[in-house]
Amino acid sequence: MEEREMILKCPACGFDHLCQEHVEIFNRPEDAQKGIHITASEDRIIVDDNLINNPSPRRQGVTILCRCEECDHSTRIHIYQHKGQTYFEVE
Ligand SMILES: [Zn+2]
Repeated sequence: MEEREMILKCPACGFDHLCQEHVEIFNRPEDAQKGIHITASEDRIIVDDNLINNPSPRRQGVTILCRCEECDHSTRIHIYQHKGQTYFEVE
């Protein structure tokens, strides 16, 4: 199987050095109103049941917040499940 790799570029300035600031993991059974939300940053991990920013309307999702080293623009990368498919989205 072929592996593919991509380098993300800042959507504001095109620079290719984006640093991860924190990662959010959302997990829940399908359509559940409550689930697990984990936020991992450089110096702490926060666990709660707040799914309000879950990129998936019904299932699991991951959001990675990145900051551009050149222009300081914040970019959110979402990977999430919806209707059996897995989506990759850059906000
Ligand atoms: Zn930038």
